Amino acid sequence: MSAIFHAGISGARGRMGRAVSAALDAREDVVVAARFDRGETPDLSLCDVVIDFSTPDASVELARACAARGGPALVIGSTGLTPEQEAEILEASGSVPIVRSGNFSLGVNILIGLVEHAAQRLDPADWDIEVLEAHHRRKADAPSGTALMLGEAAASGRGEDLADVRSAPYDGLTGARQTGKIGFASLRAGGIVGEHTVLFASDDETLTLSHSAIDRALFAKGAVAAAAWVRSRKPSLYDMQDVLGFRQ
Ligand code: NAP
Repeated sequence: MSAIFHAGISGARGRMGRAVSAALDAREDVVVAARFDRGETPDLSLCDVVIDFSTPDASVELARACAARGGPALVIGSTGLTPEQEAEILEASGSVPIVRSGNFSLGVNILIGLVEHAAQRLDPADWDIEVLEAHHRRKADAPSGTALMLGEAAASGRGEDLADVRSAPYDGLTGARQTGKIGFASLRAGGIVGEHTVLFASDDETLTLSHSAIDRALFAKGAVAAAAWVRSRKPSLYDMQDVLGFRQ
């Protein structure tokens, strides 16, 4: 068995925080050393790694605090960060190792590779790409972090940056669809844990690549695996493709 490590949970009373707590309790190589939420000051000295599913502001604040004291390592799952907030996380990763991902599931991280592969081979002159996602009614950001990751993978397959080819949401008198653009559509309803589909469509055929999250425990298990992996890495910004060894 691997050496025991001490984990903290940020956003501990939230939906994901509770799932992370259960995933940590199921492992014999982890001690939960700290749990904290809004308004509580974390004792970071107790932790080798903190798993954070909170809010973009809270994640940035935590990353700054960890960077300032040279630890602990971080696993960040919060989504909806602005480009400025993403830059702050990148800066903090110069001082502490950080795994950040919009989705910690194995299936989605495999889907990302499949989407990039398909986009590389399907001529943008003939094939449109749309990313569809559905989540529970309480989700605060749209499109989901996972939908953006899938859009980035599709754009990367075409040798583009998503920022250059992302379509504005369709609403009102939009005119015809622009060739080469990647569109996003979001649904918010009930308790849906997370549904993602990437639709490739030509005039003659469609190809759909999809993933369904059945239980948010899967994100928690992935985040805990990332925590076990990142605590002994050197400072840098990593993602689940690194944790799963897909980049080696
Ligand atoms: P949630 O149920 O609203 O939980 C968020 C928790 O963070 C709440 O307990 C909240 O406390 C707490 N919080 C707020 N400010 C904080 C602070 N400054 N310090 C510490 N904790 C603070 O939301 P959720 O469904 O768990 O999702 C949390 C985040 O994870 C969202 O951004 C979501 O999109 C993302 N997510 C990511 C993945 C992934 O695989 N990457 C999967 C699922 C969800 P209050 O209630 O008092 O505000």
